[in-house]
Amino acid sequence: MVMTIPTENIGSIPRPQKLVDAYLRFKRGQLDRASLEEIALEATRETIQRLEETGSPCVSDGEQSKFDGFASYCLHGATNLAPDGVEIVFSDGHSRFLPRLTRGPFRYQQGADRFLEISRKLAQVPVKQAVISPSVISLLYPQGGIENYSRGQFIKDILSEHAAEIERCLSLGAHKVQIDFTEGRLSLKLDPSGELLQGMVDLINQGLSGFTDVQRQRLGVHTCPGSDRDATHSADVDYKDLLPTLFRINVANFYIAMAHEKDPEKGLRIIKTLLRPGIRVFIGVIDPINPEVESPELVRDRVLQALRFIPLDQLGTCDDCGFSPFVDDVSTSREIAFEKIRARIIGTKMAEAVLDKS
Ligand SMILES: [Zn+2]
Repeated sequence: MVMTIPTENIGSIPRPQKLVDAYLRFKRGQLDRASLEEIALEATRETIQRLEETGSPCVSDGEQSKFDGFASYCLHGATNLAPDGVEIVFSDGHSRFLPRLTRGPFRYQQGADRFLEISRKLAQVPVKQAVISPSVISLLYPQGGIENYSRGQFIKDILSEHAAEIERCLSLGAHKVQIDFTEGRLSLKLDPSGELLQGMVDLINQGLSGFTDVQRQRLGVHTCPGSDRDATHSADVDYKDLLPTLFRINVANFYIAMAHEKDPEKGLRIIKTLLRPGIRVFIGVIDPINPEVESPELVRDRVLQALRFIPLDQLGTCDDCGFSPFVDDVSTSREIAFEKIRARIIGTKMAEAVLDKS
């Protein structure tokens, strides 16, 4: 019997230069929204086709239409934001800023289901959809508060937008809905006591409280140390401080960056202690930060290593992160991203073949 190990990508694929240029022109007011979206649609079509050509059993739109980045697609066009919110500092010294909410009420400008609707029509195989976590959006609320719009009301508004977005993605037939929780690991740098992280996990669970166990089988959460211009924001945070709290999230799928870890065995050993029935852990076997393409043999060995700690029926493989979470991040080429994904598919199959023989 051939055993199968599910394998999925995390999210972003570097956008074609034409789309990057179009977005910059759009931001300068030199291109209208409809033309930008037409170019994004063309990039999405090509991305899905190329993902399918790698043999991926499940694809996504490669976030071609999340123009600003993985976190802010739901904010595009909002008029109640200022650009000077929370600063995220990366290991090479560069920063990204979250926006700051200037007045209420907070509403999503668009949900990720909008992208899923398009990609479902373009794909031949199952399609997954990544959505942003309510916890990163919660960071938009300013420390000093907002007149006539309490933090409590803001949180209520985020959670209802978030749950409705997931609900729509599930109704559209998403293979998986993956909550991007990159700020989970980062939160331990901002607050080493772990209180901020616990609050974030509680918030995510609160947002998911209305979903059934059957729906949760299709819900997942992704953690990584950040990946932008080949730099990370929290790779130095120890998994022993993150994973026990992260695994409290009430979903059935966990997508955990591992290929870039200094000591993957240590991470896997921690995961082993946190496994519970009914969950699957997708282990990162491809490092998007590293421009070198992994060989399928290396991927195979990483899968076999993971199997020493995670039972076969609870294991999956994935990339450590998206390849270009922000539109202007061109540190990894589109070609390399597809080659790396191909190596993940082949390497995962090679591991299955080893198991089949044994
Ligand atoms: Zn990530």
